[in-house]
Amino acid sequence: MDRHPFGMAIATYLSYLRQWPHSLVMRGCNYAGLPDKESLIMDIKPINKWIPNLKRPLVIAGPCSAETEEQVLETAKAVVQIEDVRIFRAGIWKPRTRPNSFEGVGEEGLKWLKRVKEETGLLVTTEVANANHVELALKNDIDILWIGARTTVNPFSVQEIADALKGTNIPVMVKNPINADLALWMGAFERLNLAGIDKLVAIHRGFSSAEKSEYRNEPLWRIPIELKRRLPDLPMVCDPSHITGDRNRIALVCQKAMDVDMEGIMVETHPTPDQAWSDAAQQVTPTALGHIVKNLKLKTEFSLDRTFEHELSDLRSQIDRIDSELLESLKMRFNIVERIGDLKMKNNVTALQVHRMDEMMKRITDLAEKIGLRGLFAHELYNVIHEESVKVQTEMMRSFLKDNQSESNSSED
Ligand code: PEP
Ligand code: MN
Repeated sequence: MDRHPFGMAIATYLSYLRQWPHSLVMRGCNYAGLPDKESLIMDIKPINKWIPNLKRPLVIAGPCSAETEEQVLETAKAVVQIEDVRIFRAGIWKPRTRPNSFEGVGEEGLKWLKRVKEETGLLVTTEVANANHVELALKNDIDILWIGARTTVNPFSVQEIADALKGTNIPVMVKNPINADLALWMGAFERLNLAGIDKLVAIHRGFSSAEKSEYRNEPLWRIPIELKRRLPDLPMVCDPSHITGDRNRIALVCQKAMDVDMEGIMVETHPTPDQAWSDAAQQVTPTALGHIVKNLKLKTEFSLDRTFEHELSDLRSQIDRIDSELLESLKMRFNIVERIGDLKMKNNVTALQVHRMDEMMKRITDLAEKIGLRGLFAHELYNVIHEESVKVQTEMMRSFLKDNQSESNSSED
């Protein structure tokens, strides 16, 4: 059956589609295995119940790594001057990509964080990656723990941390896994929640991508937004330092985080960023952080202004109408896809040619750009539409072959 020319053409076409650089097949968020919304009822304590007098935005600041006691205290004493800074961060155990780089000062740094707490009144947080880190952090009165992106990817490590936390009530922030897998991120919250941790925060730090990008880690905003939709009680903080990898672009990402209604930001801050022992390019000075925070424009989900609400609802009706038209046009397109499939099958033609896709993608991308849409967006959209067209035609072919087979079987009878 696989030898059928139409089937072979579809197989070639599917493998070709997978090679397209911006295909959603590769870049998309993996929702596989994601539990239903109903089954994800987690007991999450509102953040303002455990951080007193909390105002938006919640700002978490401090160096990528604790380097020396002086550097830690100098940074803390400077950032505490910024009103919205409530939590001081510093990595003690650093997950570095390559060996022989600075891997953190270790246990000694916990004492420095304790001093920060006593001398500034800030809450302190550090990254933990195993049960031993948890034990030491708890022993040294660290207020909040965070699980790093490289740990969230590993359910064994997350479970080990969750088990070590049983019986404590310490808040835990969980960074998204480095790969774009929402189910894995949610699984980490579930493991912690099942261990009795109800003070939880999500940190959006972007997703690693094999493709060259303007970001160090692609933000893929749709993933944290989907997490927010599924767990509306879970506070979300954006980490623009790891997303951009570039201190000059941090402010823009902070604003975007506010625009999508995130609770706050975590910004790597260092007194002399260029001399930082890790992540130098993405750290800002406390003064620069002060400016970034001061210039943030906060938005609310609703407004009391009636004119605004009217205008918004009018624009939304227009969007709804256009969406209906878009779907109807798509349905018309798929009717034609079926007619083409039918024609090819009846004529036994392997007419699904990759050149056709090249031409079509080029035409669509050019047209999109000409009318003021992003070419890459149109490209991704048409990859999805195309995949669906291939599915439709594959289905048609299957039933065509089945019908033919049962006909030839009955004529043999
Ligand atoms: C960090 O916050 O310094 C860090 C190591 O982050 P991530 O886990 O997001 O890479
Ligand atoms: Mn860092």
